[in-house]
Amino acid sequence: MDVPVVNRSAGKSSRKFMSNKSGVPLATDLIADLAAASRILAAQGVVDGFGHVSLRHPAAPDRYLMARSLAPALVTPDDIIEYDLDSNAVNANGRSSFVERFIHGEIYKARPDIQSVVHSHSPSVIPFGLVGVPLQAMFHNAAFIAAGVPVFDIREKFGATDMLVGNREKGLALAAVMGEKDVVLMRAHGSVACGPTLQTAVFRAVYTEVNARIQHWTMALKDGAIMAALDADEGRLADAINQTAGMRAWELWRNRVRAEVNW
Ligand SMILES: [Zn+2]
Repeated sequence: MDVPVVNRSAGKSSRKFMSNKSGVPLATDLIADLAAASRILAAQGVVDGFGHVSLRHPAAPDRYLMARSLAPALVTPDDIIEYDLDSNAVNANGRSSFVERFIHGEIYKARPDIQSVVHSHSPSVIPFGLVGVPLQAMFHNAAFIAAGVPVFDIREKFGATDMLVGNREKGLALAAVMGEKDVVLMRAHGSVACGPTLQTAVFRAVYTEVNARIQHWTMALKDGAIMAALDADEGRLADAINQTAGMRAWELWRNRVRAEVNW
């Protein structure tokens, strides 16, 4: 069943981006922002040919939205598919899905507070999932890290695998390790960053990568000295500011995408 979508962008075409099987109308600018988020993450070096970002359906919390299986820098609004929380596509119409979409569905089930999820293989983060050195918050933009970053080791429960979170069981195990945190590392694979908005999840994914880079530099420099990272209280206070202040970064990144495409 096709239902009309709401177009909040006055003066733009009322083009329909997707068939909405949840029956809840979707704003075209919201779908455009989700597609733009993929391109932003690619431009910021968080994703490359792989990785994905999703958004919980704002009016149907048992659904989420994510691009078809495609390199993030190529995503357009027409590529967005709606999924139920078991990660079954409801309007694929022949389009293929990401193998690791279960990361998103199982986190949305476990965490009603989370509205957006980013999965990436951003390179500076990966070493912290390989050795016993915890990722710490090096600066205020990465304040969310001060709450602690768990590491999901897929072999603990599943033995030798292809390393991909390719079914619901594996997604559930990842969400359980993540618990109440907003970032989780995946041993020898990548990481997941989440947030209460699309913009915050993108901000956190970008600054998880930047923070990891800074931590590498800091650890090379400190030569036995104590690393004066943000503590949990500082992290909580600074993260509250970032929820709104981070919108400045989003506006910058979103405008750069708008300069490339007409949505
Ligand atoms: Zn992956």
